Amino acid sequence: MAAQPSALDSAWQYLIGNFSEFQLATVVTFLLHETVFFLSGLPSLLFERFGLFAKYKIQKKSNAPSYQNRCVLRLILYHVCVNLPVMIFSYPAFKFMGLRSSLPLPHWYSDSLSFTPIATKVPNVPLFFHYYCSSHLGVTVVVSQILFYFVLEDFIFYWGHRALHTKWLYKHVHSVHHEYATPFGLTSEYAHPAEILFLGFATIVGPALTGPHLFTLWLWMVLRVLETVEAHSGYHFPWSPSNFLPLYGGSDFHDYHHRVLYTKSGNYASTFVYMDWLFGTDKDYRKTKAIEEKEGKNL
Ligand SMILES: [Zn+2]
Ligand SMILES: [Zn+2]
Repeated sequence: MAAQPSALDSAWQYLIGNFSEFQLATVVTFLLHETVFFLSGLPSLLFERFGLFAKYKIQKKSNAPSYQNRCVLRLILYHVCVNLPVMIFSYPAFKFMGLRSSLPLPHWYSDSLSFTPIATKVPNVPLFFHYYCSSHLGVTVVVSQILFYFVLEDFIFYWGHRALHTKWLYKHVHSVHHEYATPFGLTSEYAHPAEILFLGFATIVGPALTGPHLFTLWLWMVLRVLETVEAHSGYHFPWSPSNFLPLYGGSDFHDYHHRVLYTKSGNYASTFVYMDWLFGTDKDYRKTKAIEEKEGKNL
């Protein structure tokens, strides 16, 4: 009995039936990025502009509306002039490294785990069991690939970001990102074009190594955008992910990096806290946090 395609299968079929892989990997990826980035970054901008959730705002200072608008306009310019060309020109490299976009989606993991052929060869394997195992293994591959991308990106970002805090690179490149000492979600991608290229490299090196399915690439991009927007949101809520996810830095961790003088900021990692802990670049942050907690303040 042939399996009914899921809604995700049908949506994917529509995409690959109406767009070439090149279009999907470039223009559609760009549009997906823009949608997720601006929709996830807008709330913290509006909270700051209208003074909402002030209790959870990490810094008491706020950016003037004109300063916020300037960030948005420059982001649109950089995204069109830098991000989109990068996506277009890196497509052949991704293709070379094994990027795929074909159906069936639920089985693309079976290349590495070879479960589906076994399941189909064994008679009387209940179909639901087959699906359960298939989806279970599929998720395992997706999750392990994306975790690998996060760990690798965090490692590369840490060392690159430390280098960006040396005098010359800070003055000529990284100071652009630090123009916003009180960050809000959209400032996460506000950076010098040279830094955008470096960040892009750190983000795509993992997927380039594993040659993922386009679906995994999109999932990774969405999660990475949500992560960096949250880290720059300027708000630490009781429901913020750093309260629940072990080793995750989040807004609490990265906001400190922005509000302290660039030679003293530390907290260089993008996602996790262990790199700064291992290399002792979170000492000032830990001290400040301990003092503020003693004084009863919520950092
Ligand atoms: Zn920095
Ligand atoms: Zn930042």
